[in-house]
Amino acid sequence: MAKPPKNAIGDATRLVTAGRRAEWTGTPDHPAAVVNPPVWRASTHLYPDMAALHRGPRPVDGDFYYGRRGAPTQWALAEALTALEPGAEGTVLYPSGVAAIAGALLAVLKPGDVLLLVDNAYQPSRTIGEKLLPQYGIETRWFDSTDPKAMQAAICPRTRAVLLEAPGSLTMEMPDLPALIAAAKAAGLVTLLDNTWASPLGFPALERGVDISLMSLTKHVGGHSDLMLGSASAGGEWYQALRRHSHLMGTVISPDDAALALRGLRTMGIRLERCTASALAVAQWLEGRPEVARVLCPMLPGSPGHDYWRRDFSGGCGLFSFVLKGGSAKARDALIDALALFGIGYSWGGFESLATPVDPAGIRTASAWPLPGMDPADRFGVRLAIGLEDPADLIADLAGALTVWAQS
Ligand SMILES: *Cc1c(COP(=O)(O)O)cnc(C)c1O
Repeated sequence: MAKPPKNAIGDATRLVTAGRRAEWTGTPDHPAAVVNPPVWRASTHLYPDMAALHRGPRPVDGDFYYGRRGAPTQWALAEALTALEPGAEGTVLYPSGVAAIAGALLAVLKPGDVLLLVDNAYQPSRTIGEKLLPQYGIETRWFDSTDPKAMQAAICPRTRAVLLEAPGSLTMEMPDLPALIAAAKAAGLVTLLDNTWASPLGFPALERGVDISLMSLTKHVGGHSDLMLGSASAGGEWYQALRRHSHLMGTVISPDDAALALRGLRTMGIRLERCTASALAVAQWLEGRPEVARVLCPMLPGSPGHDYWRRDFSGGCGLFSFVLKGGSAKARDALIDALALFGIGYSWGGFESLATPVDPAGIRTASAWPLPGMDPADRFGVRLAIGLEDPADLIADLAGALTVWAQS
């Protein structure tokens, strides 16, 4: 297959065509013989002769050298993700989303630097700031992502980078990303965005001024709750820095996982559309329930930052939270236990629905929970990852569980 020019085609077409180079899906005699790149399981790469071995690795992607630099299955996934991210020169793959976040931060930061981190970040990202970066003499400072002025105020001469996330983890506040990115740019910071929730289909991060776009591929890209991977996509200079650092760290992903991720990627667009529509239907229904104090879903009018979502994003996903009116943690847990169609477990972005408790109060240091304007008694939340089931069945399941909650 000829490689279509970037941006000349739509996202749906790109999801289907990206990464399917003729030489990765066929033989010299029969290029592009199969649809999907086969699983190239390889540690040793063989050289035709000693002259080729002595030439060593070329500083380009897609070059056979040694298994740690991957082979066509991994290269195809990286190339496909790069094709989906306008402005990216390349994508580095990591064995998990957390590994991508840690790897990218360590590629950017050096001893003495300060990192700014949104206060509502994914908890393991916080832990990287609390526990990993101090080992390298790097300090982290937290700020309220809903207030661009708070970010500006947190910048000091040693601040080197900012790690953003949109929406916030668990509480789903959508920040004014263009304002945060502009403030970071004005201060000369490197901007990293955890773009797992929207993916480049919903928010083309690099095009909007982000330097490094991070994703947990475990979620939407994998899409079937059976793999863990992460990615960092970037333009010229930052891509080379990420690539160099990942080679030094010896980071490599399995070709089997890369093949699964590629399979998931082909249907990511329609899955996201369906999950977004179902999530909005469930969110709207929850909003009308007397047991529910607040629905925190960026796609829902009235949710924190919904106007920013409508202005800046072209898509959402199935992940959102709601907060119960009063009650106790025990009653909330009884609600989750009463759900039949929602699994109890971490992660999201799979084909199946999940529910987990939301208790951010003990985690945050620079912003409040409950959110401003909320009744302090309304503090027990549930995060839902809406999958591909019929939304009417999910709603009926939630209706039954809310009755259990009211009786607990
Ligand atoms: C799950 C998640 C991660 C981490 O990804 P893993 O693949 O589970 O390591 C990072 N950021 C966000 C927003 C996530 O939801």
